[in-house]
Order: sequence, then C-alpha cells, then structure tokens
Amino acid sequence: MAEEEEVKITDKAGDWNRFLKKHYKAELGEIAREFPHKKSLIIDYRKLEKHGKKGLELADELLRNPGKVIEDVRDAVKNYNLIFTRDEEEKADFINIRFTGLPKKVAVRDIRADDINTYISVEGIVRKVTEVRPRLTYAVFRCLQCGTLTPPIKQGYGKFQEPYRPCTQCERQTKMEIVPSLSKFVDVQKIRIQESPEGLRGGEQPQTIDVDVTDDLVALAAPGDRIIINGILRSIQRVSYGNKSSLFDIYIEANSIEMGEKEFEEVNISDEDEKAIVELSKDHEVYRKFASSIAPSIYGNEEVKEAISLILFGGIMKELPDGSHLRGDIHMLLVGDPGIAKSQMLRYVIKLSPRGIYTSGKSSTSAGLTATAVKDEFGDGRWTLEAGALVLADMGIAAVDEMDKMAREDRSALHEAMEQQSISIAKAGITATLKSRCALLGAANPKMGRFDEYAPMAEQINMPPSLLSRFDLIFVMKDQPNEALDRAIGEHILKSHRVGELIEHIKKEPIEGVDSDYIEQALKPVTPEIEPGLFRKYIAYAKRNCFPILTDEAKEQLMHYYLNLRGLADENKPVPVTARQLEALVRLGEASARLRLSTRIEEEDAERVVRIVDRCLKDVAYD
Ligand code: ADP
Ligand code: MG
Repeated sequence: MAEEEEVKITDKAGDWNRFLKKHYKAELGEIAREFPHKKSLIIDYRKLEKHGKKGLELADELLRNPGKVIEDVRDAVKNYNLIFTRDEEEKADFINIRFTGLPKKVAVRDIRADDINTYISVEGIVRKVTEVRPRLTYAVFRCLQCGTLTPPIKQGYGKFQEPYRPCTQCERQTKMEIVPSLSKFVDVQKIRIQESPEGLRGGEQPQTIDVDVTDDLVALAAPGDRIIINGILRSIQRVSYGNKSSLFDIYIEANSIEMGEKEFEEVNISDEDEKAIVELSKDHEVYRKFASSIAPSIYGNEEVKEAISLILFGGIMKELPDGSHLRGDIHMLLVGDPGIAKSQMLRYVIKLSPRGIYTSGKSSTSAGLTATAVKDEFGDGRWTLEAGALVLADMGIAAVDEMDKMAREDRSALHEAMEQQSISIAKAGITATLKSRCALLGAANPKMGRFDEYAPMAEQINMPPSLLSRFDLIFVMKDQPNEALDRAIGEHILKSHRVGELIEHIKKEPIEGVDSDYIEQALKPVTPEIEPGLFRKYIAYAKRNCFPILTDEAKEQLMHYYLNLRGLADENKPVPVTARQLEALVRLGEASARLRLSTRIEEEDAERVVRIVDRCLKDVAYD
C-alpha cells in the first residue's frame, strides 16, 4: 500500500517535470542563476489548464489538495535536476512554488468549512497590515553542558518546537539554547482583507478574512490596495480561557498575491449596455435625468443633485512633467440644518458609485478617515497599519457624514489626503504612503446645530478655512419654512410611503387584485429615471473612454468668471478665493462634458459650471 503511494507521487512529479520543462525553462534558469535573490517559481494556472488532459488533472488536483501538489512540484524540481546539481539540491526546499491566474474567485462571505485545506482565490481590499517580522522555521540548539549542536529542528506554525532531550552527546538532561546564527528564519506579515464595496448590496457590512504572507510576498500590499490572494484556506482552533474550543477560525495561507489596479474593471459593459449608454448621452434632457435619478425619494434639491452627478463623473487627473499631479476628483461639502436629507443623499450616492464608502465623522472605526498605526491584538504585539475611509475609497467616492464631529487628528490628515490624495504615516516600524485618490462628499451641521440668520457665516461652519478651501463645492442648505415647498415635500414623502403600502397590498393579494394604476401611482415618485445599474455602467464607461479638453470659448468664459470673482472676494467670508477655484471650474467642466460623453468642454459646460459654483460661492465667499 505504502509502496503504491510512493510510485504515485513520483509519477506526479514526472508529470510536473514535463510541464515545467515545456513552459517554465526560462524562469527556472533565472532562479538557478539568481538564487536566493529570486526564489519563487510562479506558475500560471491558465497555462496549466491548457496543457492537455494531464494539465487539467494537475490543475484540478491543485485546487483539492494544494499541500501535496506543491510538494510534487518541488520534487519535480529536485529529482530531475531542473535547477540545481545533485549536491545543492536541498536548495529546492527553499524555493517557493506559487500559482496565479485562477479563473474562479470566491467571495469572503461565501467561504465555508468545505473549503478548508483547499486552494482558493479571493479578491478584496487590504484593510490592515502588520509590520514585517522574522519567524523561526528551522532552529539549531546548543547543549549548555557539552556544547553539542542539534540538527535543525523544523518549527511548526505558531508554537515553538523544543529540542530533543537528553542531549545525544553527553546524555544529560540539560538546558539547551537556541543558536540564532545557525537557525533559519522567514519574513512574515499578517494582513486583513475585506470584500470590495462593489460586491455589496447597499448597506451591507463588508466581511473580512485574515491572511498570512511569508517570504517574498511580504510588504507587497499596502492598506487600500485591491488585491487577489491565492492560497490555502487553513483553520486554527480557538482557545478561550486556556481551554480548546470546538470552534475554529479560518485564515488564508497566502501562496501568491496579484495586484488589481485597474479602475472599474469590476463593471462589465456589454455591447447592449454600450448602445443604451450612447443613446442616453444624446438625450437633450440627460443632465436633468441624471440629477433626478439621485435619491428620487428626496424632493427638490435639484442643484445639489446636479452637482452630485458631476462629482460622480469627476474631472481628469493630470500628471505634470515634474512628477507632481493635479487631482481630477471633485470634493463637495453640504453644510446645513438638520433634517433636510443630507444623510439620505450621501447614502444614496454610494449606491451609484462603482467604488463608494459611507462613513460618519464621529462613529468612524479606529482607523478614522485617513489611516492609523496601532499596536493591537491583530498584530500580536506588532504594529498594525489600518486604512481609513478615504484609503478604502481609493478610486471611488468617500461619503463622510457628520464631518463637523470628526476627530482632530483626522482633520489635519485630511489636508494632505484631499489635495495630494495620499496619506503619509511614519510611526515606529511603519512608514508608508497610502493612496486616497477619491472624491470626498461631506456633510456637516452648522456649529450651533442650526444656522443663525444674523451670525456671520464664517463663525457657523465648524471647519478651518484651509480645509474648506479644499472643497470644490460647498452648499449651504437652510431649512426655512415655506408653505408651498413644505407642502410639496410633504406630498412627496407621503407618496413614497405608499410604496410600503403597495408591498403590503401585494403580499395580501398576490398579482390578482392589484390594479396597475395603483402600482404606477405609488411607485412613480421614487423610481429613478435612470436605474442604478445603468447609472453605474454609464459612469464607468465615461471615465474609461472620455477625456474632454477645453475649447477656447469655454476657457475664456471660465477665466472671465474667475477674475471677476477675485475682485468680489470678501475677507470676512469663510472661504478665500484663490487659484483653487479656477482649478475647481476646470474639473467641473470636465465632468460636465463627460456626462454627455463629449470630447470637448464647450460653452454650455462653462455656463453650467459657473452657475453651480456661483450658487455655492455666493454663500461662502462673497456677498
Ligand atoms: P440630515 O442628515 O440633513 O439631518 P436626514 O437625511 O436624516 O437629514 O433626513 C431626515 C428625514 O427627512 C429623512 O427621512 C428624509 O427622507 C426626510 N426628508 C428631508 N427632506 C426631504 C425632502 N426634501 N424630500 C423627502 N424627504 C425629505
Ligand atoms: Mg444627518
């Protein structure tokens, strides 16, 4: 029985040997030359699948029994002298066999007990990383009595393997000490990934899984990065109050990491979608349609909604010859009385952005809005770097509610995060620059809870001018009683509530007995003209394909408005008029042209943008 097993393994190693010789000659040669600087053989799963029937078999076995397969490949490298000559073949023990390019990804929330010890591929955003630290893999001990050294003793994961006693030489029960210089270590790091927001249906909390990375995989991923982790799902027994529990935790033993960088790769646009998108772009009511499709259950606020549709499209990031860059993302702030649907609109926007994160300034996680370095149990005493909302929203939108209540540290870190779109951290063993290339949509209440008609605006917005000036648009929203408007909002709200009634109605009397007029009437006020699926695809399409440039006429118009503005600027107002406003005008112009898929920023864009910007600045920058 045991013999048969033996033959099988060699057989498999032979299969692997033939596969490697055919497809990985060059890579193996490189490892042979550059070992130990290069010591990972990266095998593309897709190549394996294309390697005939044998390849399919091997690929399938990898998924089911990865531990054995990795040893088979190592045997193939070792026994057939693929890289090293006989006398140095033990070097093969230190080669990492890695696989990439798995076609099927499993969502974090769908990982189950059946997956334990199988090979899986998981996509997500890096939320936390620990410092990189060495872990003992082979320990050599010295007898304190006679000085004899033990052979290297393999160390398991987590627990420390003590040497054999008594000492083989002097046969005494003595103390043994570890000899670090003869022992072997590997770099290790723990990271936590969380599901990408685009996979979540509105409002769901993202789930996370921890990953152990070792050797040349450490320090590849930073918080906020979108990555694919391929590896073996492992289980580890929980211990509570020193007792072993029957509950297990799971983690992934990383085998390879693939960096996912491309923007919007998650949004698939079919030919049919493209047709619908292009057609919609030609609709002469396209601006109104987009605006009205944002939070349709909220009445009015047309200008705010129009502005939100522009920030969803965004301007264009520009790399300057000196290496610096100008952001394309548009930041927008809503400051207003309570109860006027600020939070509602923020939450809705997240549904429309292919990458959106909603958070509140006061209830943010420990990582806050930007990032933090802490020593917590996640890192077992190591420092951990954790991404905050603006990092997790990289390449998307961060909706930050209750911004006036955010922590002081966040406030100062926001300056860099908003303008340079990066966050620098230097603390203990961790120095990192994280990316925060996102648009910020903030909401805040006035300092005293409500606006006071008679107090100066500068005293009522609870944010320093330096921070305010980083917003391209600031909407001051006042809640003033107005009978006609109040009635309209009231009717709208009551209509929205009828949707609930309708659902109840259908529950009681399914299909039959529901008259279509009733459905129409009830659903009309809250059904968006552009449904969220198409909305998201449209944005992704525009951002991928559309990079409009300024026409001379539009340029002239924006310049004219800007110069005029400089003349009007009022020092007693909370927002200074600076060159930033000109940049904001350009970004908004780009977004406006993008919205109708135009390659040129025309006069109509300049007019639209000047109207929106002026509506904002009238309240905060001049009288
Ligand atoms: P805020 O964050 O500005 O304090 P909320 O977003 O929490 O306000 O809104 C309070 C409630 O009032 C919500 O249920 C919202 O739907 C409703 N509401 C406020 N203004 C409107 C409006 N214009 N149309 C419809 N509903 C509204
Ligand atoms: Mg609110």
